[in-house]
Amino acid sequence: MNKNSLPRKVESIIAILKSHYKPFEFSSRDPFKVLITTILSQRTRDENTALASKRFFEVVRSPEDVLKLDPKIIEETIKPSGFYKVKAKRIIEISKQLVNNYGSKVPFKKEELLKFKGVGRKTANAVSAFAFNKPAIVVDTHVHRISNRLGLINSKNPEQTEYELSKIVPKKYWILINKLFVIHGQKICRPINPKCSECKITNFCDKKI
Ligand code: SF4
Repeated sequence: MNKNSLPRKVESIIAILKSHYKPFEFSSRDPFKVLITTILSQRTRDENTALASKRFFEVVRSPEDVLKLDPKIIEETIKPSGFYKVKAKRIIEISKQLVNNYGSKVPFKKEELLKFKGVGRKTANAVSAFAFNKPAIVVDTHVHRISNRLGLINSKNPEQTEYELSKIVPKKYWILINKLFVIHGQKICRPINPKCSECKITNFCDKKI
């Protein structure tokens, strides 16, 4: 496809998905909640993230609360998210940094967020987009997979996906494209056995089966 027509293809895909799906909203725009929930979401399924996040925020309200708790309790609360020992360690380290260097507030600058151990581009972009409502493309597994299947890009990793998408997705859709592709990825364009016969954007897809 001609590169110049890709932004138009993106617009059409977004318009169709928008008419079929209600984009999700985080239950809270609290930057600390968005940050922790995104860390919990690493390498697990969406339903495990939701459960671990719910359990965690039943006992924690702030980074100070994290530091008061026995690490074993943190591990136990986030267990449903998998890799809970590593994630608990990260959450404790991040909370320490927030308390000691940032007055317990999550910084809104992406460059600052990226200085935290365990915070990569996906997490930094999620905080920018979902907590601070700043344009950012959150590339999770759904966005990476679907963008490539559709033939919008041809990328090997999420970093490359973010860069390539930033060239063809109008900025006003940077936050929305994640929300729509996440729902589409959960319902229709699943990692294995995508339901192409039920897909509303099949006409725009290079990989339709
Ligand atoms: S046609 Fe199939 S592969 Fe393409 S976006 Fe739809 S579900 Fe995914």
